[in-house]
Amino acid sequence: MSRTKISERLGLVRYRNQGRHDAKPHITVDTAICDSGCPHQCTTYVCPANCYTLNEEGKLRFQFEDCIECGTCLYACDQGAVTWNYPDPETGRGVEWTFG
Ligand code: SF4
Ligand code: SF4
Repeated sequence: MSRTKISERLGLVRYRNQGRHDAKPHITVDTAICDSGCPHQCTTYVCPANCYTLNEEGKLRFQFEDCIECGTCLYACDQGAVTWNYPDPETGRGVEWTFG
């Protein structure tokens, strides 16, 4: 029996307003907080969709487009940098749930 890799499974997630360049993010990150001395940068380790990365200068970059709304970063960040707003279905980004 073949197993589907996690990267392949993540590729199956469908999103509201997919492809809209003006879609509003459901998560915003105050990267000024991240870059002014976050002691652990733990979101770069715990996000399963790799939305939090460090650039070559060690500064945090966040991209919401691949977020699967697991909620981990909201609880992992203890520096107050992460804000979550449930998206307006007309204009917001977010996972298109099949079963609720
Ligand atoms: S834990 Fe919070 S403050 Fe630290 S890098 Fe991640 S989002 Fe930024
Ligand atoms: S909610 Fe989950 S998938 Fe989305 S950015 Fe946060 S940790 Fe990553």
